[in-house]
Amino acid sequence: MALVVVGSVAYDGVETPHGSVDRMLGGAATYISLAAGYFTPVKLVAVVGDDFAPEDAGLLASRGIDLTGLERVPGGKTFFWSGVYSADMNDRTTLRTDLNVFADFNPKLPEPYRSEPYLFLGNIQPALQESVRAQMHRVKLAGGDTMNYWIDDFRAELLKTLKDWDFLLINDSEARLLSGEQNLRRAAAKIQEMGPRTLVVKRGEYGAVLFRGKSHFMAPGYLLESVFDPTGAGDSFAGGFMGYLAGRRVALDGAEIDFADLRRAVIYGSVMGSFCCEQFGVDRFRTLTREEIEARYEEFKSCTAF
Ligand code: AMP
Repeated sequence: MALVVVGSVAYDGVETPHGSVDRMLGGAATYISLAAGYFTPVKLVAVVGDDFAPEDAGLLASRGIDLTGLERVPGGKTFFWSGVYSADMNDRTTLRTDLNVFADFNPKLPEPYRSEPYLFLGNIQPALQESVRAQMHRVKLAGGDTMNYWIDDFRAELLKTLKDWDFLLINDSEARLLSGEQNLRRAAAKIQEMGPRTLVVKRGEYGAVLFRGKSHFMAPGYLLESVFDPTGAGDSFAGGFMGYLAGRRVALDGAEIDFADLRRAVIYGSVMGSFCCEQFGVDRFRTLTREEIEARYEEFKSCTAF
């Protein structure tokens, strides 16, 4: 019972007030897979060029991530993104986006992926998200994220795709953009009518709000002593959220997902997002243990109980 993850695998250049790195492993699907891998088996769908280093593939493989669906384009170059953060690290300016092999990405799922029950659709063109969803025959829980570019310029395509999603994870400005509502509660109600019955609105360092039906749950962000690099935090949140639900085998028997499970999934999302920020790029995931994850989860409980 695995989670299929589709999205970007990249090289990133990142500059934060703590330093800069010219080129390191990144990409939304990389972060999602590494974070989810602590909770459930993961099967990755992405594309890279032949510049993709064996040690980077090795890191993913060492976590048990299935790379059968990682397409390698001979002579091609891996997607490259770079960005610089503001002094408080709440704002990020993109300096470069070289799509390279990602420009012609047309995901084809290996046969053994198609019967898996869990699917996370990372931030790619909505029509490609729909095509991946359509290739899976036995999905029990599917969802993903998107960004302002797709909301603005591919709205019809996105709305069509969203109809089939069980959940959507987006940040607060994207929720406002998608719904046309400034008030977050009203925005959430409108988005739920578009398809996803469960909505998680991420609010950066301030945490996240989970909406389902008429209920909602608010999770704070973990107060880190130092944030080195927030790149991938949102994707790591997604990996923790979905990985936990898949690890719990929710929805496999067709039963409603328990709201308490969803709440715990949001806390595991916050936990994984917080670890991601502690070192540059994916570095924290090289040493992070399940015990550290559980300890921070318990800390969350004690910081929020009253
Ligand atoms: P996050 O900080 O969670 O928004 O994720 C940052 C990651 O997303 C980086 O590792 C980038 O390689 C990747 N990324 C940046 N721009 C894009 C894009 N347009 N499409 C897909 N992935 C992207």
